[in-house]
Amino acid sequence: MAKMKKTEVKPFKEMLLALRARLRGDVSTLANAALSKSGGTGGGSSSVPSHIADLGSDTFEQDNTILLMNNEGETLQQIEHALERVEEGVYGSCTECSGKIPKMRLKAIPYTAFCVKCASEIESGQY
Ligand SMILES: [Zn+2]
Repeated sequence: MAKMKKTEVKPFKEMLLALRARLRGDVSTLANAALSKSGGTGGGSSSVPSHIADLGSDTFEQDNTILLMNNEGETLQQIEHALERVEEGVYGSCTECSGKIPKMRLKAIPYTAFCVKCASEIESGQY
């Protein structure tokens, strides 16, 4: 069982928390960043907005936006699950084969539950 040390997991946990905050409160920013799909153009996904708390008056607009972004809701779920794995101490292990997920991959998709191999099998349609 490949386990990550707590100190290794911490930055990823922070990324997950920041992502979750964005998805919950600042969907339009996320759309611009296209964090989940661009595959990392620009390279630095470490820029975390600190103005999330400023939101709040435009709840109605947000509701519409969220409806248009089902995918992001899925991402949010994946983030929740990833945070659960953090708490369980199994973050960084593939939930499919229990193999270690490379840090490079976790940096690109911190909420992924699968190693590269399993993810490509899943993406190729073998659900
Ligand atoms: Zn795997």
